[in-house]
Amino acid sequence: MLPWRQDVLVLTPWLAPIVWEGTFSRDILNAQYLQKNLVTGVVTFAVEKYVQFIEGFMRSANKYFLAGHQVNFYLFTDNPEKVSHLQLAPENQLFVIPVQNGSRWQELSRSRMHILSSYIQGQFQHEVDYLYSMDIDVQLLAHIGVEIIDALVATISSWQVTQQENKARETRPESQGATPEGQGDFHYTASFYGGSVSEVYKLTRACFGGLMEDTENGIEARGHHESLLNEYLVQHKPTRLLSPEYYWDTELSPSIIHVKRMCPVHRDSS
Ligand code: UDP
Repeated sequence: MLPWRQDVLVLTPWLAPIVWEGTFSRDILNAQYLQKNLVTGVVTFAVEKYVQFIEGFMRSANKYFLAGHQVNFYLFTDNPEKVSHLQLAPENQLFVIPVQNGSRWQELSRSRMHILSSYIQGQFQHEVDYLYSMDIDVQLLAHIGVEIIDALVATISSWQVTQQENKARETRPESQGATPEGQGDFHYTASFYGGSVSEVYKLTRACFGGLMEDTENGIEARGHHESLLNEYLVQHKPTRLLSPEYYWDTELSPSIIHVKRMCPVHRDSS
């Protein structure tokens, strides 16, 4: 019998599992995943100053993201020549995709959903079964394995555990990203989400549509695409939730966090 977690919520009211250390056997899940002959993709952006994070991200993701399984990393950058040659595990591949550098990050943040949906339709859907979007200014510190694989997957924000102020929640009803007080099930971080390529396509299309509508109405949701993502996930419940272990972004270490699998890295302002 597995050790079970009694100190945390492991199932949502719509019966989706919430993944915490101690709630799954990676060996069993690996064996099931291998039988299906799947390929998983990771999309990440490194624009302007964020090119400094490429190497650290790739080194740690190469080591800890779905280790032993085939992973395609799709890196969108305005600086492809800055991507140095990295020795990756034989099952991993890196595809560098050039993007235009918008005048403000907010503009790229908006067009990011559009870029993703276009590439899913034109390329990724033919190359991968599952697709995960990750921030680049992070380090993976422990294994993130096939326990993350499901149709629509979102990561609970660490603020939810530490009860800090939720800076990204958009409550102004005129924004497409608004989640009225009391209506969001969980707050999800935009730093790590994904799912089957078809579900991620629907999500990126819907979020881009919402962002465009906000732009036409002269409003910018407080947390940009994170607000839109949360609004979408209220209407389309994730089939699997990742606990904040999967993106831990505070200095606090509450006892329910047994492992920090991914954390943001500090920014160098140069
Ligand atoms: N990003 C980027 N260039 C920027 C700002 C953001 O490439 O100037 C990308 C990068 O992948 C980063 C992600 O967008 O990890 C999220 O950035 P954001 O500023 O929204 O969140 P934060 O870095 O504060 O978590």
